[in-house]
Amino acid sequence: MSAATNYKAELVSVLGQPIAENPTIVMIEAAFKAKGLNWRYQNFEVSADDLAGAIIGIRALGLQGTNLTIPHKIAVLEYLDEIAPDAALIGAVNTVRREGNRLIGENTDGKGFLRSLREDANLEPAGKKVVILGAGGAARAISVELALAGASQISIVNRSQTRGQALVDHLNEKTTTSARYISWESAIAIAEDTDILVNATSIGLYPDVDDQPNIVYETITATMLVCDVIPNPPRTPFLREAEARGAQTLDGLGMLVYQGAIGFTMWTGIEAPVEVMHQALAEAFA
Ligand code: NDP
Repeated sequence: MSAATNYKAELVSVLGQPIAENPTIVMIEAAFKAKGLNWRYQNFEVSADDLAGAIIGIRALGLQGTNLTIPHKIAVLEYLDEIAPDAALIGAVNTVRREGNRLIGENTDGKGFLRSLREDANLEPAGKKVVILGAGGAARAISVELALAGASQISIVNRSQTRGQALVDHLNEKTTTSARYISWESAIAIAEDTDILVNATSIGLYPDVDDQPNIVYETITATMLVCDVIPNPPRTPFLREAEARGAQTLDGLGMLVYQGAIGFTMWTGIEAPVEVMHQALAEAFA
């Protein structure tokens, strides 16, 4: 064994249940390879009952971090040493990074959305009026990051009033944005002065690829930026309708790649090869 030999790879993971079909590994391992890093990513099937043990395992085995997915994004908060301020406001953690022996909880979903907004659409959210369809985890992460970035008004359109109103109250209490709830019983018209419209529901996700949110599509105009969180397929009927009306669009694949890229940099300290990651994920979904 020469002095330079090092058989110890660094490990990061994703914990969830079910986990077999989670594709994040594809883009993160492509990024490790492109950067010549001796790092690995592993999908671990972990039940809700085993989460506490899994976090102890992460500490003991010296993992550099982990992603969390269903059903752990909220439950994990109590097992970590510190929660980043925006993740605390969102109330969920999808990425854990290590600082020495401390495990820090982060949320990169909304950050990935913002980066896609700024880098792909060249749009700065400060002062913008936003309409978000949905009030689940993705909507919560996106709305909190938009509010922190200075969006002037956020309208939450959601089927369940309780969930929609709870998010609106949270945004009004904890951020400086002006949030309001819009009920969603029939097709809703999008206000003419809307700058950014986001589908943050799960409508359109594979295999229900022909489904689209119930809105009056004629009210989408060419001055709006229309975004979808659905990564697979990236070109949803919702985005196609928006394109047909001349609107600029952003797909959920970009958001997914950027949230992974932000996690990659948190773990490795290295800038992520975003193009390589995008390509790897697009191939996995194809
Ligand atoms: P949740 O289950 O937390 O929330 C789902 C949301 O969709 C709720 O607001 C729900 O409304 C709404 N919804 C679902 N079906 C319908 C319907 N038929 N009509 C009206 N509203 C509906 O899921 P998440 O927020 O975690 O995920 C949402 C989507 O975002 C998923 O498809 C996921 O793949 C995607 N996502 C993408 C990411 C990316 O990086 N691109 C990152 C994270 C998520 P209600 O409250 O009334 O039930």
